[in-house]
Amino acid sequence: MGRFHRHDDGTVHSHDHDGPDHAHTEPGPGRRGRHAAAATTDAQGLAELIGDHGGYKTGRERIEILQDIYAENDELAAANRAALDAAGVHAVNLMSSPGSGKTALLARTLAALEGSVRVAVIEGDIETPLDAERLGGMGAQISLLNTGDGFGGECHLDAPMVAQALRGLDLDAADLLVVENVGNLVCPAEFDVGEHRKAMVYAITEGEDKPLKYPVMFRSVSAVVVNKMDLAPHLDFDMDLFRANLTAVNPDAQVIEVSARTGDGVEAWLAWLTAPLAS
Ligand code: MG
Ligand code: ZN
Repeated sequence: MGRFHRHDDGTVHSHDHDGPDHAHTEPGPGRRGRHAAAATTDAQGLAELIGDHGGYKTGRERIEILQDIYAENDELAAANRAALDAAGVHAVNLMSSPGSGKTALLARTLAALEGSVRVAVIEGDIETPLDAERLGGMGAQISLLNTGDGFGGECHLDAPMVAQALRGLDLDAADLLVVENVGNLVCPAEFDVGEHRKAMVYAITEGEDKPLKYPVMFRSVSAVVVNKMDLAPHLDFDMDLFRANLTAVNPDAQVIEVSARTGDGVEAWLAWLTAPLAS
């Protein structure tokens, strides 16, 4: 399927995890998440970085490792989905850049659905319970997954992480699960976590060009919630151009314009989100 994690410079890198549930680590002292190495300047970090980006030197071996990782991920994703199906829970994997307003939209969502739909949320963040706390007390079950806590600080959620987070939820007492992924426009799109549908939140402050720059993400979703529409009068955001760019990579994506801040348009998002529950 060719689902490798490619950098803009053409190198391939793998997603390994240090967690006890997921031991695809290559030899090397003190390994962290693969992306974490890029942010370090110490010698060890540099060695890890060179290791990551020397991928083509051992191309076949690396590809085999990646295939193993994806195969294991997809196996666990299928198990997650089976558990959700058995409990009658519909799951949506919600992705975006950091700061696009996923949590704000979810706060609106929980407030609107409280009392009618039993919602569970897996809150994925590298660090902090901040977003999980923000969604507390709104009638939903919340399961926090910090990837910095045993998963190498990964910048995405994968099926093993979601499997762990699911243990913190009573699925029989839920109708809808929203997985709020780690804020990142790249690798979250590459991991099936056991969801039924994928959606993303996109803020108009991010410009019109991102569907072309991050096509894997935009291609993976069936809905794009275009957020922060209340800021439109203050920006030069060209909606027609954005829609044309999106159509170029994903002609089937539904576009839902909202302002999580004011609540405008949120009804259409709720309709998309809950549509499978009616049947
Ligand atoms: Mg958030
Ligand atoms: Zn990642």
